[in-house]
Amino acid sequence: MEYKHIIDSDRCKGCGLCVDICPKNVLEISKQVNTKGYFPVHQARPEDCIFCSACCIMCPDVAITITAIAAEKADQS
Ligand code: SF4
Ligand code: SF4
Repeated sequence: MEYKHIIDSDRCKGCGLCVDICPKNVLEISKQVNTKGYFPVHQARPEDCIFCSACCIMCPDVAITITAIAAEKADQS
């Protein structure tokens, strides 16, 4: 099973709680504002994410989700 880590930038208030909790230092606060005028978090190092879901649980605004994606069937052919 593969997973996708999704940040809803317009829900994020840039509080930084997820940045601090991430054990792999994946997340950073952006330099560009979102539609609400906050600096949202983004994945600075997505390749390091282990999909532990700590950031999803920590976020008070439910701005981060992890979704399972179907494995590529092409790998088996
Ligand atoms: S799922 Fe875990 S490793 Fe990935 S960004 Fe969130 S806290 Fe970091
Ligand atoms: S915890 Fe949520 S609101 Fe706070 S910076 Fe992370 S994604 Fe944004």
